[in-house]
Amino acid sequence: MSDGLWQAVLGEIEITVSHANFITWFKHAKLLEVNPPVAVIGVTGVFAKRQMEAKYKDLILSTLKKNGAEIDKVDFRVIESSKRQAQTGRSGGAKASATQRTQNNTSTSLLSPPSSLNAKYTFDTFIVGANNELAYAAAQAIARSPGTKYNPFLVYGGVGLGKTHLIQAVGNAITKQNNEAHVEYISSETFVNEFIGSILSKKKLSNKYRGADVLIIDDIQFIAGKERTQEEFFHIFNALHQANKQIIMSSDRPPRDIPTLEERLRSRFEWGMTADISSPDYETRAAILQSKASDHNIRLDDEVVEYLANNVQSNIRELEGALTKLLAQCEVRNVRPSLEIAKQVVSGNGRRQTQRLTPRSIVDKTARYFNISLDEITGPKRDKEIVEPRQIAMYLLRSELKLSFPQIARCVGRKDHTTAIHSVDKIQSAIDENDEMRGTIRELKERLYA
Ligand code: ADP
Ligand code: MG
Repeated sequence: MSDGLWQAVLGEIEITVSHANFITWFKHAKLLEVNPPVAVIGVTGVFAKRQMEAKYKDLILSTLKKNGAEIDKVDFRVIESSKRQAQTGRSGGAKASATQRTQNNTSTSLLSPPSSLNAKYTFDTFIVGANNELAYAAAQAIARSPGTKYNPFLVYGGVGLGKTHLIQAVGNAITKQNNEAHVEYISSETFVNEFIGSILSKKKLSNKYRGADVLIIDDIQFIAGKERTQEEFFHIFNALHQANKQIIMSSDRPPRDIPTLEERLRSRFEWGMTADISSPDYETRAAILQSKASDHNIRLDDEVVEYLANNVQSNIRELEGALTKLLAQCEVRNVRPSLEIAKQVVSGNGRRQTQRLTPRSIVDKTARYFNISLDEITGPKRDKEIVEPRQIAMYLLRSELKLSFPQIARCVGRKDHTTAIHSVDKIQSAIDENDEMRGTIRELKERLYA
């Protein structure tokens, strides 16, 4: 099946749905066939099938169509997940290495799952620029001698800027030097879920975390406010730290800005080294584009690179998404990437054109969408009809322009940046939980870039 098409579709869906939903529902989904007018998507279980049908059918259909597939129907089919295949040892090719790794790793039982790291996230493929050089240098130092320096190590920065890539690169480098090393990578969402699962089933949380030589925990801000999970994590943290095991974390903001993070955890996070990753500058964006294109054995013309790097500025994930989409279009039409197609890709999907969007226009358009005045949305009133639009405006200032929380607060006439943090979190959870909010945000984003 055309991998390029599906990659492009996933790229777009990833920025439409919440991160948690994307990981849960789309990570293992595959495009099995496009047989006009029907496309068949493979999912990993009956439950996933039902969820996908109920929640994401339309989104998948419209995104496939937008990327050139001539279909008007999407069907779902249950397939066996690649993880199960790897564990039963029936897989060949790429999966074999994961199985092999499990077998070579004598310190863990044969039943332990293959490494949780994604092999594509390495130092080799990580482009270094002014925006990430400090984090990169620290990560390399840790890979050379884990558990000695910079422990814990925490990388923070906005979405799509390379945190997951970098912290997994450390894990991959360590595993490469020493395949006996027990490296555990986990997102804090998964950690929270496993922990809740262990409470429900009255079984102890798996020992794999306490037994790790290197524990990598992604998006640690998710454990904030979850008291018992924080407690459990605190103990794991202490046990590992005392035994000089390396702890690596990522967060979307510095520990001091994570509300409801327990003080004792906050101070521990700051014991070691924290480094931020910020938005890449033009040169770094251009280098990333060339590097990703050459992974596909394609050399982009300078004018194409220039255009994309100038017009997709917000984050690297979107930049990669634009490139994937460009390559998919070229594959479908069987032509070389050109400036013309690059323009179509970027403007056809207006949301990528962050250039014209200003804080002012976000606040303005959000107010107009809800039929309230600019004075109201930035004023002191606390009526529900005004508070929610204000929170949504703050969410959009964060998601679209990556403004800092103090900047966001100022844009809507607030003094306290914790109001902004709180509002952004609140809208994010609402998006995760209800279709209506998701619809509102999607519509608003369409207007912002219209
Ligand atoms: P985050 O975890 O900060 O949200 P990711 O690590 O998932 O971001 O990065 C998003 C995408 O951008 C990934 O595909 C990643 O490989 C790519 N990426 C990010 N930073 C870089 C970089 N410096 N060099 C190459 N690719 C990068
Ligand atoms: Mg990440």
